Amino acid sequence: MRGVNGRCAFASLDCTAYARPNLWAARWMAMVAGALELASGAAHCVAMKDAAERCDSGAMDEHYMRRALVEARAAAAAGEVPVGAVIVHEGRLIGRAHNQVERLRDPTAHAEILAITQAAAALGDWRLTGAAVYVTKEPCAMCAGALVLARVARVVWGADDPQRGGAVSKFRILDHGDLNHRCQYARGVLAAECLDLLRNFFREQRGRERGLASGRGGVVV
Ligand SMILES: [Zn+2]
Repeated sequence: MRGVNGRCAFASLDCTAYARPNLWAARWMAMVAGALELASGAAHCVAMKDAAERCDSGAMDEHYMRRALVEARAAAAAGEVPVGAVIVHEGRLIGRAHNQVERLRDPTAHAEILAITQAAAALGDWRLTGAAVYVTKEPCAMCAGALVLARVARVVWGADDPQRGGAVSKFRILDHGDLNHRCQYARGVLAAECLDLLRNFFREQRGRERGLASGRGGVVV
């Protein structure tokens, strides 16, 4: 099966997994749209770079986590699990994405993965050396592995994921001694806001499911 532009997207893989060219196109369009918005925000980012030199790292972490929260809210509005991520390199925002698993029908379309792909395209290099990733929820095992492979310098997240967290809560992937790169990390930045978003989303989802089960079809909170 062929991917975007009639070419196999991953020649080394069994491309039957990519039998949905429209979804691939949608994924690429989402990435291009994000990249264009990132370019238009370049002036802001330069301003932030200047501001960064005057701010302490805590203020910077909160600033970029708020950008990630904007992404997470966009995910919630689209009916996706509300997780958002941004990637910053030398004061520039080079990746910005939210979870799109449902829209793209792709289990790998987590916020971090989409943002990593944008950032690699922006830098023209798969190595995101020196980059910092801000994500509203602790990365899962897949995303933590991708962050290590991408050579990300630092990962900052909001809410811990005690059940499936791939950074510290369940699997210690970001600084595992057997891997060839270790990411520095910080946790708990704007954790309450990040956690509220997740809790509200799942509460409303349970309410909808109960409403459907009872035949009313409405939201029960
Ligand atoms: Zn993930």
